[in-house]
Amino acid sequence: MRKKAMGEPSHYAIKGLRKKILLSSVLYTLAALLLISALSIYPLYTWMRPAAEANLTHAAEIRALAVEEYLSRMVEITRQINSRTAARNYLADYSAGKLTLEQVSQFTTAILKDALEISTEAVSITRFDREGRTIAHIGKPLRPELDISLSSWYQQLKLMDLVAVEGQLFLAVKGPIRSTADRSVIGHDIVMFTTTSLQRILWQTTGLGTSGESWLARPVEESTVVFFPSHRATEEVYNLLMTDWPLQPAVTRAAKGKAGSMKIDRDHGYRKKAVAYTPVAGSNWVLLVSMSEQELMAPLYRQILMVAALVLTLTILGTLGMLALLRPMTGRVMVYTKELDKLNSELTQEVAEREKAEARLQRSQREWEKTFEAITDAVVIRDTQGRLLKMNQATQHLLGELAPGQSPEQGCRALFGFDKPASECLFCRMIETREAQCGEQRHETADRWFHIACYPLFDDDQTLWGGVLIAQDVSEQKKMERIKDEMISSVSHEMRTPLTAMLGFVEFMLENPVDREQQIDFLQTIHRETERLNELVSNFLDLQRLQAQLEAYQFREMDICALLHETAHLFKVASKKHQVSIQCPGQLPTVRVDENRLLQALKNLLSNAIKYSPAGGAVVIAARPEGDHLVVSVRDQGMGIPPHARERIFERFYRADDSSRPMPGGIGLGLSLVREVIKAHGGEVWVESEEGKGSTFYFSLPMVENKAEKDKEKTEG
Ligand code: ADP
Repeated sequence: MRKKAMGEPSHYAIKGLRKKILLSSVLYTLAALLLISALSIYPLYTWMRPAAEANLTHAAEIRALAVEEYLSRMVEITRQINSRTAARNYLADYSAGKLTLEQVSQFTTAILKDALEISTEAVSITRFDREGRTIAHIGKPLRPELDISLSSWYQQLKLMDLVAVEGQLFLAVKGPIRSTADRSVIGHDIVMFTTTSLQRILWQTTGLGTSGESWLARPVEESTVVFFPSHRATEEVYNLLMTDWPLQPAVTRAAKGKAGSMKIDRDHGYRKKAVAYTPVAGSNWVLLVSMSEQELMAPLYRQILMVAALVLTLTILGTLGMLALLRPMTGRVMVYTKELDKLNSELTQEVAEREKAEARLQRSQREWEKTFEAITDAVVIRDTQGRLLKMNQATQHLLGELAPGQSPEQGCRALFGFDKPASECLFCRMIETREAQCGEQRHETADRWFHIACYPLFDDDQTLWGGVLIAQDVSEQKKMERIKDEMISSVSHEMRTPLTAMLGFVEFMLENPVDREQQIDFLQTIHRETERLNELVSNFLDLQRLQAQLEAYQFREMDICALLHETAHLFKVASKKHQVSIQCPGQLPTVRVDENRLLQALKNLLSNAIKYSPAGGAVVIAARPEGDHLVVSVRDQGMGIPPHARERIFERFYRADDSSRPMPGGIGLGLSLVREVIKAHGGEVWVESEEGKGSTFYFSLPMVENKAEKDKEKTEG
C-alpha cells in the first residue's frame, strides 16, 4: 500500500471541502439571484407607481369634465331663460319707464313659469331689475332671510355658486339680461338648480375602490369650502368650511390651475392617502379625488408580488439547476483535486529531495574546493588538448618559486615535463594507456626532484577528457636518500677500518707466537680501535635516540669547570701532537646540565678539533660568562671550514667534503649530536673559522640564576 504522502487530504476532508464548495456556490447563486430580483423589482415599482397615480388623476379629470359639462348645461339653461324675448322686452319697457313694477312682475312671472318647465333641474328663477329689485320669483321659495337680503345676495352672487337652502344644496347661476336694442344689461336672473346630478358625479365610485372619495370644493383664503360630503352620510352637511384640512395643499395647487396628484401622509386620524386634484374649468372650484395609498397601490403590489414570486421561483429553479450542475462537477473536481494533490505532494517530495541533493552537491563542491586549495602538493587539471583548466594555490606558489616570471602554462610544462619526449612525459603516457601513471622527474632549471602522479579523468561514457596531475616535492627525500647512502658507505667504511685493524692484529696473534710486550702493543691498538668503533656506534645511536626524544635528560646544577678539565685530560693522553689546554676563570657561574650528555658534546668537539688539525697544534678549551649565559669554546689550529659549509655542518650526515684536500674519516653525526644536546639545555651552538688557520666552536648555556628568573617571569606572564 502506498504510504500517505505528507499534505495529502483525508477522504473526510475532501468530502467536507466538496460540501463547502456546493453550499457556498448555492448560497452565492441564491444571493446573486435575489439581488438581481430586488434590483429589477425596484425599477419595476418606480416605473409602475406613476401609472397608478395617473389612474387617480384620470379619475379626477373625468369627474371634473362631468362637473364642467353639468355647469355649462346649467349656464346654457340660464342663458335661454335670460334671452326669452317677451320677458326681456317687458323688462326693457319697465327700465324705460313704460311699465310699472306690478305690470312687469305680472307679465314676467307668467312667462318665467313656462321657462321653468323647460328644465327638470331648474327649481327656481328670480328676476331682478337693474337696481336689484325683485321683479319675479318662480319656483321653490327661498328662505325668508334670503328673501329679505335678496338684493344684497344678488350683488354678492358670482356667475354661479352653490347655496344651501333648508338643508339642501342648490346651484345658483346668475345670468345678465340684455336689451335687444342696445345689448345693455337691463336686469339679472338667478336660476337655482338641483345638485342631484352633481352629487351623482361625485359619489360615483367607479375606479376608486372602497376607500375612494371625491370632493368638490372652493378655496376660501387659507381654508376650503367643501360642497358635498364625500359620501352619503345620515346627516348631510353642505358647504362645510374646512379649516386645517389635510387635503388643503391639493386644493391650493388646483386653485392655481394645476392638475396632478400628491401624497398626504397620515395625519389627524387620516390614513395615508393619494390625492389627485384638478381645477374645474369655467368656475373657481376644484375637484379632488383621494384614495388610500394602500388601495391605490394594491394592484401594483399584486403585480410586483407576482413578478417577485416568478423571480423567486426562477431563482430557486436556477439554484437547483446550479446544484444539479455543480454536483457532478465538484465530484470531478474532487477527483482532480485528489490527483493534483497526490501529484503535488510527489512533486514537493521530489523538489525537497532535489534541494537536499543540491545542498549535498554544493557542500561537496565546497569541500572539494577547500580540499583542492588545502593540498600542499601542486595539483593541476589539464584536458587532452593540453589546456590548463585548474590549478591550486600550492601550484601557483611552487611555480613562482621554481621559475619566477614564467606564465603558469610554461611553469607547468617545465614542472610536469609536458615538453619531454612521449616516452618520458607521464601525461602523454596516461593519455595513451588511459591508466594512472607516476614517476619522478627532475626540474632542470631549479635542480629539484618531484614525484609526479597523473590520473585519468573520464566522462560518463568513458571518454577520456583530461587528467589530474599531482607534483610532490621529493628533493629533500632524494637528498636524504643520497646522504643515507653516503652515510651507509661512510659508516661501513669507518667501521671496516678499525675492524680490519682489529682482525689483523687478532689473526696475527693467533697465528704467530708474540711476546708479552708485542702482545700489549697489539692489544692497545685493538683497544683504541674498539673505542673508536664504540664511539662511532654510540654517537649514531645517541643521535637517533635524542632526536626521537627517547632518552630523558638528567639535569643538575653544577660548576662545569671540572667537566672541562676531565675532557681535556682525556684528549691530552690520546694525542701527542696536540697541546690541549684550558682557559677557565677560577669561579664559573653554575649551570644546569646533564653531565653525561654535555661530556659527550664536549668530547665530540674536542675529537673534531684534533681530527681536523692533522698537523697538530694547540687545542684550547675556554669558558666565560657572557650576559646571562656561560659561553664555552673549543679552538683548534687545524684545516678550518670553507664558508659555504659553515651553515650546514650541524646538519645530520653533512660533511664538508672537499676534493682538493684529504679529509679525515667521519659520518657527519658528531656536530648534529652537539647541537641536539645544547638545544636541550636551552643554549645555542655556532662556529667561527678561517680556512687553513683553524676553527673555534662555541656553545652557550643559560646561567642558573638567570634561568630561575626567566622561569619565574614565564609563570608570572
Ligand atoms: P664527522 O666529523 O664525522 O665528519 P661531524 O658532524 O663531527 O662529522 O663534523 C661535520 C663536518 O664538519 C666534518 O665533516 C668537517 O668537515 C667539519 N668539521 C667539524 N669540526 C671541524 C673542525 N674542528 N675543523 C674543521 N672542520 C671541522
